[in-house]
Amino acid sequence: PTPATSTSSDAPASAALLERATRVIPGGVNSPVRAFRAVGGTPRFVAEAKGPWLTDADGRRYVDLLCSWGPMILGHAHPDVLEAVRTAAARGFSFGTPSENEVLLAEEIVRRVEPLEQVRLVSSGTEATMSAVRLARGVTGRAVIVKFAGCYHGHVDALLAAAGSGVATLALPDSAGVPAEMTADTIVLPYNDVATLEATFAARGSEIAAVITEAAAGNMGVVPPAPGFNEALRRVTRIHGALLISDEVMTGFRCSPSGWYGLEGPYAGGAPDLFTFGKVMGGGFPAAAFGGTAKVMAHLAPTGPVYQAGTLSGNPVATAAGLATLKGCTDDLYPRLEATARTIADAASAALSAEGVAHTVQWAGSMFSVFFRDQPVTNYDEARDQDTTAYGRFFHSMLESGVHLPPSAFEAWFVSGAHDDEAVSQVVDALPAAARAAAS
Ligand code: PLP
Repeated sequence: PTPATSTSSDAPASAALLERATRVIPGGVNSPVRAFRAVGGTPRFVAEAKGPWLTDADGRRYVDLLCSWGPMILGHAHPDVLEAVRTAAARGFSFGTPSENEVLLAEEIVRRVEPLEQVRLVSSGTEATMSAVRLARGVTGRAVIVKFAGCYHGHVDALLAAAGSGVATLALPDSAGVPAEMTADTIVLPYNDVATLEATFAARGSEIAAVITEAAAGNMGVVPPAPGFNEALRRVTRIHGALLISDEVMTGFRCSPSGWYGLEGPYAGGAPDLFTFGKVMGGGFPAAAFGGTAKVMAHLAPTGPVYQAGTLSGNPVATAAGLATLKGCTDDLYPRLEATARTIADAASAALSAEGVAHTVQWAGSMFSVFFRDQPVTNYDEARDQDTTAYGRFFHSMLESGVHLPPSAFEAWFVSGAHDDEAVSQVVDALPAAARAAAS
């Protein structure tokens, strides 16, 4: 493959598309983090993706360590998923009536995640968390939601406070257009800090409908929960009659066959009341879900008073893709993902050490991030205290060498089952020059 380069003159087709895009799409992108604002330069317009490879509009190939921000766990255009999509699409695209694929996907999710009895399918992670929050408020009759700084739960108004990810990348404290009333009932606490959580519940416990947390944080870079943190959330919420919502949109079916809960659970005090999923369970198509026990889920319309709906929810093509992807998420996939990720992370660490670049690698299953600071990161303040400009230089050198990393220091790196020796070698070979660039 021709090595990629990071200047627009070397990516002329992407640059031309960006110029056209910018006229008709704000910032030229349909999700802000795609715009390369944190690292500068021209985002690559991808024409085609296969296995671990992205091919851009100029015909250059990159090893993909973004994996569509998580979903592509089997690699791009996996033959089994492609076949399932073709078969489903040939039978029609959307019915607006119930269909068998929805049942199959719901059964597969419920089978994998032990505490779940029911799920409702939606089309994005944002919809899943928005609906879970509404359900928690409906079940408890309370208004207040506790979230943690640096955790991102999609662009739900009430949860767009200290939200990590794209908001961190763009250095926005919050979003304009979210009236103060929308976040007035949102309490933002530091991640991994049980004492502050307990003090908050001691003061306002009877008002709190739910605590929502990323099962393991991945949107301020990867910051796993300290041992006992998630269990403390369970204990404290239960004492005060609040629900615990575990957001597994990123970690679900990514960290283990049953997500983060499968790695860490069961919790002594009981399972989270609600889980949210997205990304992997849609296999690259718009499918997401939220779920819990049948008792809690019975509060949803049509059986209960909490309204929630969607024209495209449980779409037959998206559910076929999701089901085929989950079928490919076999037990033996996970050790392979971890080995691939370990090889890449170890090589990155060795290359950065050789150049004297301060860094820390953090993990949640096979998800990892390289923070450009020498101390471990346990919360959002620490995540922000890193050398993001060094990351930008590192990123562009990798891109020049044909490796597409997440275009922000606040993101997880993802591998897939399709990352083979050729792809991993291309990453490993690219690292020394990138470490030199980071050091410069
Ligand atoms: N929750 C978490 C933990 C996420 O990582 C994301 C997306 O990155 C979301 C929710 C929102 O999902 P979506 O982008 O599908 O709306």
